[in-house]
Amino acid sequence: MLKNDQLEAWDRENFFHPSTHLAEFARGNLPHRVITGGKGCHITDREGNRLLDAFAGLYCVNVGYGQQEIAEAIATQARELAYYHAYVGHGTEASITLSKMILDRAPDHMSKVYFGQSGSDANETNVKLIWYYNNILGRPEKKKIISRWRGYHGSGLVTGSLTGLELFHKKFDLPLAQVIHTEAPYYFRRPKQDMSEEAFAAHCAAELEELIQREGPETIAAFIGEPVLGTGGIVPPPAGYWEAIQEVLARHDILLVADEVVTGFGRLGTMFGSDHYGLKPDLITIAKGLTSAYAPLSGSIVSDKMWKVLEQGTDENGPIGHGWTYSAHPIGAAAGVANLKLLDEQKLVENAGTVGAYLNKVMAEAVGEHAHVGEVRGEGMLCAVEFVKDAETRELFDASEKVGPGIAAALLERGVIGRAMPQGDILGFAPPFCLTQAEADEIAAKTAEAVKQVLG
Ligand code: PMP
Repeated sequence: MLKNDQLEAWDRENFFHPSTHLAEFARGNLPHRVITGGKGCHITDREGNRLLDAFAGLYCVNVGYGQQEIAEAIATQARELAYYHAYVGHGTEASITLSKMILDRAPDHMSKVYFGQSGSDANETNVKLIWYYNNILGRPEKKKIISRWRGYHGSGLVTGSLTGLELFHKKFDLPLAQVIHTEAPYYFRRPKQDMSEEAFAAHCAAELEELIQREGPETIAAFIGEPVLGTGGIVPPPAGYWEAIQEVLARHDILLVADEVVTGFGRLGTMFGSDHYGLKPDLITIAKGLTSAYAPLSGSIVSDKMWKVLEQGTDENGPIGHGWTYSAHPIGAAAGVANLKLLDEQKLVENAGTVGAYLNKVMAEAVGEHAHVGEVRGEGMLCAVEFVKDAETRELFDASEKVGPGIAAALLERGVIGRAMPQGDILGFAPPFCLTQAEADEIAAKTAEAVKQVLG
């Protein structure tokens, strides 16, 4: 086995880490951590530390670490057939079974699933399908996509544009011109303190309407949103939001993409966030929870309405000119089948709902009254604590104070992983669905200690 200092030197010399301060990492000012194992909600590192992973990796290891059934399914598939492509009608038992299992769980009006590798490429597929759809319908000008500020939809050129976070645009010449942004349904940051949730939802819908009118409804193809904003700060929508938004979209014949990369397969305590909030999407993006990240796999679930037009398109133009080498990769598909079975057998979606509600309750009790806590919010197995300089005025701390990252670091010292969300001082939690109440208590108690250490 390599010595720790050898591994660290190689890491700092050779490894281009994503979403990392490159210069600080090279200088040795950022930790290098080598993860070696995991079981349930815990991971272990090479130094032998055991950490409670209250973010499930990147909210993806939904069934928890070390689930042997999934490992076995992957090994069996790799031994029998590690790879064959899915072009021109090819498949494997795993990929065909998984497509059926996904459609059995998806909202009734969904029709087919197209497989990819990551959430980003699935959203890339969605945008291409939307453009193809409008070209087939003879409306080549209807192409713009509306996303929300604080939305997260990936890191590619189109998907990084859809992502409504400045860090993902700055110095990358993004967003691209076809992507425009509208207001985030961020009730904590509502424009007027005395606005009810319903009034704020109506305000967001009115902002959307205004944007559509300004751009011309005939130029707007689709609206993309996460049922609950994730990376943008774990922000559940205000009451009535999705109803009001869908009413605007329907009036202008604008497609709806529900990006369920985080919420799909149970994180809100329901199989899909679309079920939870009554969304009727034309496309659903899935990734993370599809395999619980045991292997990379993503998908775009296509509605009946869109499917009919896509089929017509191939009658007119030949096979659809969109394919990935690794689409429906057999190992990912085998992991997906085993993962969805486990979700059912271990009743993990129900657990995400009940223990998630418990986590939100104990977190609110532990830190909700602190003078610098603006809000504790969440839904299902998602929870966030937002820190502010002044809880009355909701004034922010200066970003240079790094309050959120400081609290996440203090929590890590206590053996719990939370995530300092990229914009604002927000500490996020998205544990595996197998979380126990005792583990939820531990997360809340240690968060309170970390907050006290940093903010007094
Ligand atoms: N959509 C959402 C809602 C996400 O949270 C993410 C990843 N955090 C993505 C898309 C992109 O997925 P990936 O990182 O697998 O490309």
